[in-house]
Amino acid sequence: MELFNRDGKVFNGSPEVNAKGKPYTQVAIACDRCHVIGGQRLWIMGIENNRPYSRTGFECWTCGNTGVRKVVDDRLYTAEELSKINAAAQKRADKRFAAEQAAAAAKAADRATAETAYRAVNADFLAKIATLCVNDGQAFWDRLAADLLQWFKTPTARQIELVEGEVAKRAKNATSAFVGAVGDKIELTLTIERVIPINSQFGTTYINLCRDQNGNSVTYKGNSDIGAVGEVSNVRVTIKEHTIYNGVNQTVIQRPKLLQAA
Ligand SMILES: [Zn+2]
Repeated sequence: MELFNRDGKVFNGSPEVNAKGKPYTQVAIACDRCHVIGGQRLWIMGIENNRPYSRTGFECWTCGNTGVRKVVDDRLYTAEELSKINAAAQKRADKRFAAEQAAAAAKAADRATAETAYRAVNADFLAKIATLCVNDGQAFWDRLAADLLQWFKTPTARQIELVEGEVAKRAKNATSAFVGAVGDKIELTLTIERVIPINSQFGTTYINLCRDQNGNSVTYKGNSDIGAVGEVSNVRVTIKEHTIYNGVNQTVIQRPKLLQAA
């Protein structure tokens, strides 16, 4: 009767028979530490271009210079046995695949449920941050939104403050109008939003980014102290120029004089 090994290769030879009466053959596993080229045993240092490169002059303690690491019993099968074994193996593989598919589907469903819940709880915040995103996956707000959505993180108080601050700032910027006419001397109530120190060889000057009482963008660059960040100051100013910076109408002032609080 024709016999095959587990991989389906036809066995040519006389099989041995094990204690259970099943046919097998002995297969030599080559030594992976040494090999023979031109009758000389060589030490395998590594593989280069699919060929081992070697060093000579040693005894291989792995195989005792036999070139055989070990001999294993290799079961032989009839065509009928083999087809049964293969069918059973295929069935196991199919079952495993189906289980993996089901697990993946369950995981995706869990994630969808979690995302729905997360979006419901954080709808207001997510709507706000969506207005800031440019959807390039790179910008700060895009990265923040992606990070939160990845793990359904609850936004921190600081993150909420940042997003709401930016939304409010952009709303004001969108409606910012020029104040007065160039050369006018007028009084303004300014909220100081940011103070940026500029150091040079002549000393430090400050760029003050402010809003007037109507939310218009007003900037002052100079050395006069018109207040700290967050403070509201009544100031008599001269309108120096009207500029558009990053699409925002900005009124640049000079020679500010602090007035008494209203
Ligand atoms: Zn060896």
